Order: sequence, then structure tokens, then C-alpha cells
Amino acid sequence: TTAAAAADGTVTVAGVSVDTRHWIGGRRVTSATTFTDVSPIDGAPLAEIARGGAAEAQAAAAAAAEAFPGWAATPRAERARLLHAIADGVEKRIEELSQVETADNGALLRSHRRGVMPRVAHNFRFFADRLPQLDHDDFETRGHTNHVSWDPAGPCVLITPWNAPLMLATWKVAPALAAGNTVILKPAEWSPLTASLLADIAAEAGLPAGVLNVVQGYGAEAGQALVSHPHVRRISFTGSVPTARHIAAAAAANLTPVSLELGGKSPLLVFADADLDLAVELAVEQYDNAGQVCLAATRILVESSVAEEFTERFKTRAAALTQGDSRDAASDLGPTIHPRQLEKIDGFVQRAIAAGARAVVGGGPNTGLGGLYYRPTLLADVAQDSEIVQEEVFGPVLTLQTFDTEDEAIRLANDTRFGLAATIATGSPERAERVTAALVAGTVWVNCFFVRDLRAPFGGSRHSGIGREGGDWSFDFYCDLKNTVTAP
Ligand code: NAD
Repeated sequence: TTAAAAADGTVTVAGVSVDTRHWIGGRRVTSATTFTDVSPIDGAPLAEIARGGAAEAQAAAAAAAEAFPGWAATPRAERARLLHAIADGVEKRIEELSQVETADNGALLRSHRRGVMPRVAHNFRFFADRLPQLDHDDFETRGHTNHVSWDPAGPCVLITPWNAPLMLATWKVAPALAAGNTVILKPAEWSPLTASLLADIAAEAGLPAGVLNVVQGYGAEAGQALVSHPHVRRISFTGSVPTARHIAAAAAANLTPVSLELGGKSPLLVFADADLDLAVELAVEQYDNAGQVCLAATRILVESSVAEEFTERFKTRAAALTQGDSRDAASDLGPTIHPRQLEKIDGFVQRAIAAGARAVVGGGPNTGLGGLYYRPTLLADVAQDSEIVQEEVFGPVLTLQTFDTEDEAIRLANDTRFGLAATIATGSPERAERVTAALVAGTVWVNCFFVRDLRAPFGGSRHSGIGREGGDWSFDFYCDLKNTVTAP
């Protein structure tokens, strides 16, 4: 049975009080119906969450539209001060946010404590501090001055997935607010809890009512209503390709600009001249968050002459991984998010095996642990045009292919409809430069993985997305640029 919300609408999750209601116009708002939020760690029901739809989307859009002029007119320095106050609030609650996020989406507690939640705070500080850099120098045309200003665009709808809920939400919320926009955040229905805590933190920091709104619910209901709303001036979406198509179609009706950060099927290219131990570490790192990472390099391409050695070392290294409860410091790998996700992952793996793939490691659910734990898996003998090589699995499943020449490696790497990221392991800087230039990817890592700087553009090519966020590219998206030409 699910923990019933107290009269004040809150439940206790991992010892933390979380409000199950929406946050609209500076007030907690209920809905007639709820949906059940379950922990992937042990299947325990966590909360009955208010299930928003058209009415809640309308109320949030109205609140965001009403709050917009005041927030847009708030001096940048004051907006920055409030964003820093939110960051302070996040930093004070790192332990609580980490505990709740881990209970909700099953990612490792130690990653939340050490990496993710500090980064959430940093998202706010970074975009707050970057505002002054938006003032470009004026320039002249036949004695006339041109002055470029970065005007806030209006209410923004931000739709986010479950694999890194608060990190991905604040990656959008922070620049949108810094730019002077108001925001409606719709967190994923499988992991809504930390968005509600963010609303508390923003309120405590003194953010005015209606500037940040959180509407909970299913994509087809609350999500669809929000992205279809005519008051909305920007939609930023992180999630899957099929959902992106719905959102782009809804946005087309109102000509709302959209930013899409979608899936991937990124390659890890291991050349014979690479440090093989490093290459194996990079490969094993792809199991982080049980492989539920958009950027994961899930296609391992190894030069034939070192393939056997690489595989042996990989097997040893993978066997040393500990899978278990995400709250346990010894765990390297937690559960997948949801029974539907586990079933989807296993479907991909079993169809690949039926088609002739060989499970070098793993190949099925972790029956010892039960529940939603899927064994880290590496599949060899896979055809380039097969489903397992072409489709995003979004679980701890990697494929292994070999190549003989640099050209072949590039051809295999680029033979995908995605273009989010790529990782190259090589001892040759010249090769790294040549291969990087030939790859279709929004981010290329050379002899490293997941080193992220908020100043850098982030996004994907092809079906991995449209547009870039990060650094000033976020402000490009969240602002309406205006050029003012003044006569001498
Ligand atoms: P999803 O597309 O199923 O859902 C994402 C969000 O969209 C959820 O909040 C959902 O409620 C909402 N949604 C669903 N239908 C909607 C509709 N019709 N209108 C409006 N909103 C709707 O994706 P997911 O399964 O939650 O996340 C996994 C996917 O996200 C993977 O493909 C992964 O690669 C991708 N992802 C991409 C990045 C990136 O930055 N490129 C980062 C993380 C995850």
C-alpha cells in the first residue's frame, strides 16, 4: 500500500518530507486523481502524486504568464542573487535531495551526494554568474550604433526524463530563470519527487510566486497540455525520439521554438595504439546509472588486433562490479527504473541473442537480486544493421564489434541515426584529430568520458536532437535577441 499523504499533502520519503501536490502560482495545488510513484530499489510505493492534466496546465500557464512581466523587469543582479539563494538551499539539502532522488529513480546514492547534487547547485550559480557576459560590445554601421540585447522570451515549458531528474531539470530551469523567463517544469512521472523539493527550495529562497511552477503528471496528459499551450514561448525537452515528435508537432501549431535533447547510440572507438587499461575503464564506465545515460557509449568498436586482449580484460573488470541496493556504498550498479524498462531491455537482449549474438558477460536480469536489477551485459557477434546495434536500449547493455582500419572504424561509428557523443581511445593525437573531424557527434571525448563543463555547448546531431544548450547557447535559446540601431 502507498503511504497516504498527510492532511498537508506531504509524504515522508527516506526521512524527508515531500509535497505530493503541484506548485502553481506560489501555492500547492491538488488534483482530483493521483498516480503512484514507486521506488525501483525494492518496489516500495513512495507516494500518491497529484496527477495534472489540462486544467493544471492552464493554471500553470496563466500563473507563468502573469508573473512574467515582473520577473523580466527584475534587474539581472537581483535575479542572480535569487538563483544563488536557490543554490545555497540546494547545498544545504544535498543529503536530503540525494536520499530522495535515490529512492525515486534508483541511481547510486554516492553519485548523488558527490556529483549530481553539487552540480545541481552549480547549474544555478553558473548561469547566474554568466549573465553579465551577455552584453556584447556595440558596433557601428555608417555612424549608426548597433546594440544587441538579450530579452527574456516568456513562459517556458521544461519537460524532463527520469534518468537524472534534478540535474537535467535544473540544467534548463537555471538558464531560463536567469534570462528573465518564467518556467513550468513537468518532471517525469517515474521520478517526480525532487522537482517538488526544488519548488520548496525556490520558495524559501524568495523566488516570487509564479516564476517557477511544477506540474506533475503523465506525458500524454499534463505534458501534452503544456506543450500545446499558446502562452508558452519556449519548450525545452530532454527525452526520447518518439516523444520529441509529439512535442515538435504540438509546438508547430503555435510556432513555439523547441530545444530537443534526445537519445543516443554513441560509439567507443578503441584503437590498437590505445592504453588498453584506460580503454577498458572507459568501457566499464558505460554501465554507470545502470546504463540509463543518454551519452553512454554503448557500441564498443575495437581494432581487431587487440580485440581478444581487450575482451579478456573487460570480462575481468566487469566481473569485479558489484550490483545491489543503490544506497549501499559498495554498489557500482543499481536497478533499472521500472518494470517496463527492464522488460524493454531484456527484450532487446533476448532478440539479439536469438539473432546470433553471444553474451560475453551478463545477458539477463540479475535473478539473485530479483526486482529490477539487470546484469551488466556485453554482446558480441552483432551485425551492424541489427536492432541491438541500431536502437537505443537505455540499460546496462553494450555491444562489441571489431574493425581493421581507421576508415572502417569511422564508417561503423557514423552508421547510426543518432549523433549525440563519441569516445575515442588512442595513443595518437594525430589520429584523435582525424577521427574526431570525421565523426558526427555533439560531444567527442578523447581518452576520457563524461567530463562536462557548463560553458560548453551540449546537444546532438541527427535524431539525437535539435539545438544546443550550455554556456551562452542556453541564453541563445531562452532569449529573444533584439538589435537596436541608433542614428548618429
Ligand atoms: P520520454 O520521452 O518517455 O519522457 C520524457 C518526458 O516527456 C517525461 O516527462 C514524459 O512525461 C514527457 N512526455 C511524454 N509524452 C509527452 C507528450 N506527448 N507531450 C509532452 N511531454 C511528454 O523519455 P524517458 O524514457 O523519460 O527518458 C529516456 C530518454 O531520454 C532516452 O531516450 C534518453 O537517451 C533521453 N535522454 C536524453 C538526454 C540528453 O540530454 N540528450 C539526457 C537524458 C535522457
